[in-house]
Amino acid sequence: MKEGKLLILSAPSGAGKTTIVKYLIQNIPSLVFSVSATSREPRQGEREGVDYYFLSIDQFTKKIEDKEFIEYENVYPGLYYGTLHSEVNRIWNMGKHVAIDMDVMGGMHLKEIYGKRALSIFIQPPSVKVLEERLRKRGTETEEKIAMRLQKAVRELEWAPKFDAVILNDVLELAIEQVESKVTEFLAE
Ligand code: 5GP
Repeated sequence: MKEGKLLILSAPSGAGKTTIVKYLIQNIPSLVFSVSATSREPRQGEREGVDYYFLSIDQFTKKIEDKEFIEYENVYPGLYYGTLHSEVNRIWNMGKHVAIDMDVMGGMHLKEIYGKRALSIFIQPPSVKVLEERLRKRGTETEEKIAMRLQKAVRELEWAPKFDAVILNDVLELAIEQVESKVTEFLAE
């Protein structure tokens, strides 16, 4: 059996990476979405074990102590997100490839760990203005949280050149096409 690979999609919040990841999962049968753990509250419609493993801060901290995470980040103040060894191994043991949606620092960190076994893609929003509009339209966050996400986004945009590929998400269909072609090529190697 060929060794399982890892696809990392990172972007500032609102750049469209979740939509792109969902498309890839639906259209590339060998790719399986890696469900992260988080200490944030579920949003409406989000399901345990499908969107995230929702943990309390105490549960999350315990897993950090027990070294259950490959990586974790304090993505926003007080909010932890992390990738579990058990999740990635579960997918590789099925003979599939792993697709992970994560913040920019986490993406760089994971690429460092897995090297050529991983493909890291940065989804670039056309501008901070567009990002702001998308976050407002999504309507899931308060003004304060939107401001926090935007501040972080401005810093994250500087890290784009560290990724294996940077894809501009101006027109979603085009971005999807470009990402899909990169991923298909990588998985065929
Ligand atoms: P959201 O709260 O919008 O679901 O996610 C916030 C940010 O956390 C997003 O940028 C998302 O990609 C990131 N994220 C999700 N899972 C992980 C993870 O396992 N590790 C890291 N470092 N970031 C993650």
